[in-house]
Amino acid sequence: MGRMMLKNWLALLTAVFIGLSLAVISIVPPSPQGLDTPDDQFSSARAMVDVRMIAAAPHPTGSEENAKVRTYLAGQLTALGMDVDISASTLPEKALARLNRWSGQSKTEQPIYNVIGVLPGADRTKPALLLMAHHDTVWASPGSADDTVGIASILEIVRAVNETGQPARDLIVLFTDGEEVGLSGARHFFSENPLRNKVGAVINFEARGGGGTANLFQTSEGNGDAARLFARAVRQPSGNSAATYIYRILPNDTDLTPALKGDYAAYNIANIGKAEYYHSPKIDADALSESTVQHMGSQGLDLTRALLSADGFPRKKPDATFFDLFGLWTVIYAPVWGWAFLGVTLLCYILPLRRDMLRKDTLVGAVKMVGFMVIGGVVLFGLNALSGGGSGADYYDRLAAIPRLEAVAGLTIFAVFFGTFGRSQLSENGVLGATLPLFILAVAGQSIAPTATYFISLTVLLCAIATFIRRSKQTETYGQWISAAVAAILIGYMVSFGHLLMLGVGPDLPSVAILPAALAVLAILPLWRGLPKRVVTVASIASLGLAIAIALWIRLDPIASTVPLY
Ligand SMILES: [Zn+2]
Repeated sequence: MGRMMLKNWLALLTAVFIGLSLAVISIVPPSPQGLDTPDDQFSSARAMVDVRMIAAAPHPTGSEENAKVRTYLAGQLTALGMDVDISASTLPEKALARLNRWSGQSKTEQPIYNVIGVLPGADRTKPALLLMAHHDTVWASPGSADDTVGIASILEIVRAVNETGQPARDLIVLFTDGEEVGLSGARHFFSENPLRNKVGAVINFEARGGGGTANLFQTSEGNGDAARLFARAVRQPSGNSAATYIYRILPNDTDLTPALKGDYAAYNIANIGKAEYYHSPKIDADALSESTVQHMGSQGLDLTRALLSADGFPRKKPDATFFDLFGLWTVIYAPVWGWAFLGVTLLCYILPLRRDMLRKDTLVGAVKMVGFMVIGGVVLFGLNALSGGGSGADYYDRLAAIPRLEAVAGLTIFAVFFGTFGRSQLSENGVLGATLPLFILAVAGQSIAPTATYFISLTVLLCAIATFIRRSKQTETYGQWISAAVAAILIGYMVSFGHLLMLGVGPDLPSVAILPAALAVLAILPLWRGLPKRVVTVASIASLGLAIAIALWIRLDPIASTVPLY
């Protein structure tokens, strides 16, 4: 092996190692903070005391346990210096039918109770900030995550806020009832309760699973100002405008849905991870990841403080493009910048244009990239069907299979990469060709949904800059290392992004994982030197075989012990 070749493999392996480390940094929530955490900061250990009390037993709407939790919460809010009101209403018919189905009873009426606390601010004429979470659970689930993680986070946030003196404006806490049977408590508050007119901004806290990072996944429409405030204030951020865009299209609802009809600046933060515990009878306080509580609470506290002290609440402005970079900080810009990025991308390819650019290997690169995406997408679709996905599958059993579905996706991507790009090194023209389909996707994305497709335009931009440097005579010596740095960043981002995609839609649409995979592949192509035919064939067949075996395992194993009991 020549020295140049060795340097190349070293650059590639370094990029992969740093990339995977960056992915771990963004996928793993921050460390829990103990009982000795300074009083004005968020401590997951303190919040866990409430989690243990509240999630001691399942407490669905109308149950005796629910009444106990309600009393406990009212006591906690009073102890925090809040004026407490228990606001009663009745469960709508459809919601009651669902509750009756769960309980096997045939009640004709069911009262529900929102627990509301008001912490008076220095200026009571200012619009108030509302923090909300639901205090009911689904049937037979202790619900330490859904939504005790939200309730306990709010209690700890208010406690920390109290430590720094009276807030500038009113802080209202709303613990809703009947969320799991049709958002009933939230619907009542936002249509009937006079306090709704005092509210100017809302943060809702939710849970989907027993762990993972907490993410800003939904905002009010016209989030330009709101997202900028989040970007400025939140120190361990997680969330992006692709998620907020996609969530607007999906039919899913939380307590924030009725709030979004009002004219509020609104944020929805939920943890996503350990998906097998979603609505599970097994999600007690011990099964909940404490680091998840810390991540939800620290973001919630930063956001709460910023909103309480803001002169005015965020106003409707055109949506922003934003995303957290490895959970370390938030990148935010107006979507129109995407066009500038695409312009610079074009220039980086056109400026060093030589006559030999549009040769056969350009076409080969383009065909290989399209092949990678199409074959990868089709194989992922097929393996999902083989694993028992599709209509008729148990929704919660599929959620429990997500880690294995991610393994299937990873192995498939590996196999298809080896099959398409494995054997040979692409020339610079070939890399240019491979960029082309993704550049077209970036232009289409920028035209249709720029806030959702930033990761495509930024990828082609970074790769184009690296290509420009590699192709320039003055800089080609360290061009390889620039490419390695770009590859590290993009591998890190795309692995964590793909992980969130799999958690969000993986059991139904695993084929979407091929898009972040293609973008990461684009970044490593300049470093890829090709492997002997036999190595490539063995690697490709072995990983595909393993993917098939795992898919069959998912199909044939008994239904997960964590699935809900209703
Ligand atoms: Zn919930």
